[in-house]
Amino acid sequence: MSGVGPRVAVIGAGAFGGWSALWLRRRGARVTLVDARGAGHIHASSGGATRVNRALYGSNAAAMRLAIRSTVLWKEEQKRLGVELYRERGVLWMTTTGDDSYLRAALPLLDEAGRRYEEMTPAAAAKRYPVMAFDDVRRVVLEPQAGILLARRACETVARQVAVEGGTVLEGEALLPWKDGEARTRSAHLDAVTLRDGRRLEADQFVFALGPWLPAFFPDLLGGWIRPTRQDLFTFSTPSGDDRFGDDRLPTWIDLGESLRYGIPGTAAAHAGAAGAADAGPARGMKFGDDARGPGFDPTTGDRTPDAAGERAARAYLSRRFPRLTDAPLESAQVCQYECTPDNQYLVDRHPRAANLLIAGGGSGHGFKNGPAVGDLVAAIVLGQRPLDPAFRLGRFPDAAKDGSGT
Ligand SMILES: Cc1cc2nc3c(=O)[nH]c(=O)nc-3n(C[C@H](O)[C@H](O)[C@H](O)COP(=O)(O)OP(=O)(O)OC[C@H]3O[C@@H](n4cnc5c(N)ncnc54)[C@H](O)[C@@H]3O)c2cc1C
Repeated sequence: MSGVGPRVAVIGAGAFGGWSALWLRRRGARVTLVDARGAGHIHASSGGATRVNRALYGSNAAAMRLAIRSTVLWKEEQKRLGVELYRERGVLWMTTTGDDSYLRAALPLLDEAGRRYEEMTPAAAAKRYPVMAFDDVRRVVLEPQAGILLARRACETVARQVAVEGGTVLEGEALLPWKDGEARTRSAHLDAVTLRDGRRLEADQFVFALGPWLPAFFPDLLGGWIRPTRQDLFTFSTPSGDDRFGDDRLPTWIDLGESLRYGIPGTAAAHAGAAGAADAGPARGMKFGDDARGPGFDPTTGDRTPDAAGERAARAYLSRRFPRLTDAPLESAQVCQYECTPDNQYLVDRHPRAANLLIAGGGSGHGFKNGPAVGDLVAAIVLGQRPLDPAFRLGRFPDAAKDGSGT
C-alpha cells in the first residue's frame, strides 16, 4: 500500500465503513478495509438492490443538510467512476391521516436550502401517475431531486475503489480486541485486532462500522443503545408489458400514514445497462417496506424466513394503492434489519477504552443515503481534522431513553 499517512483499519464494509475507508484513503491514510462477508452482502443492513435517497426530513434541518451534502457526493462519485449509483427519479410523499406536520415542518426548510419540491392535489397526482390510487390521500408533495440508490452495487463499487486507490480490502472476521466482560479500564491505545483465522491487523487507528453487529460486539458499551430490529421487504412483480411501473415513469413513494410505508419501483434498466453492473437482484418489481420497527433481531442467527402475515399486509396495502398489483406474484422477500438508536440518529464516537478506536453506526433505517457524508466525517475525525460531532456522540442519550424508537 502506498503513502506515508497513518495506518487505519476499517472493520465493516457497509455504507458507513466503505465510505469511511474511501475518504480516509483519499485523505492520505494507509487503509485496510475488512469485512466478514464482503461489501454489501445480503445480510448486512446495506444489502439488497436499492435504497431511498431523500432530503425531506420533517423538522430535522441537520438531517436534511446531511442528506443534501451526501447527494452531492453520490453524484460526484458516480460521475467520477462512470458507474451508475444514483437515479434521481423523485420521491412522492403522501399523507393519509389528518396529520401533515412532518411535511409542513419540512417545506420551509427545503425552501431555505434551495431544494425543490412540488405540491399537487391528489387528483393531479392521480392524473400524473395513473397506476396509483389516491382516494384516501390528503396531501401530496413531490421531491424531484430525491431518488433511488443502487445499494449493493454502491457498496461493491466503493470497496473496489478503496483497492483501486491503493488501499487493501480483505475478507475476515475481526475479534473483540479485549476479553468480553473485562472490567472497564482507563482508555488505552489499541495496537492490533486479530481476525478469526489468526491474521493480525496492526494499525494506528481503528474504525468499527459493524452496523447491526455493533451491540453484540461491544455489549458493555452499546448493548443498551443500538437495537437491531427485524424488517421484512417484499417485491411483487408488476404486470408484464405495462411500462408505467418502471422508475422512469413512477417515483419512489412514501405514505406517512399510521406507519410509514414506502415503495421503490423497478430499476431494471439501470441494472441491465450500466457499466460495471455485476448485480442482478430484486430490481424489476415493486419493492414494498413498512418502516414500523419490527421485533428484536440477531443479524447472525435470526431466522430470515419471510413472514406470511407481513406478506399479507404488504399485499393488502399495495392492492389499495396500486389496483393492478392485486394478486401480483411475489418476486422476492428479504429479511433485513435496522440498527436503531434511541433517537434514531447515527452514532460516531470513540470507544472509552481505546482513544484510537472510533465507532460508526446506528443507521436506524435511514443511514444508507448518508454513507458519503458520515464517512467523510469519520475520516476527518480519525485524522484529527475535525472534532467529534456532539449530535452523534453516545453521551447524548439520557439514561431513561435506552429503549426508544421513532420515525
Ligand atoms: C430494510 C431496510 C431498508 C432501508 N431503507 C433505507 C433507505 O431507504 N434509505 C436509507 O438511507 N437507509 C435505509 N436503510 C438503512 C441503511 O441501509 C443502513 O442504515 C445502513 O446500510 C447501515 O450501514 P452500516 O455500514 O452501518 O451497516 P452494514 O451495512 O450492516 O455493514 C456492517 C458490516 O460489518 C460487517 N461486520 C460485522 N461484524 C464484523 C466483524 N466482527 N468483522 C468484520 N466485519 C464485520 C458486516 O459483515 C457488514 O458488512 C434501510 C435498512 C433496511 C434494513
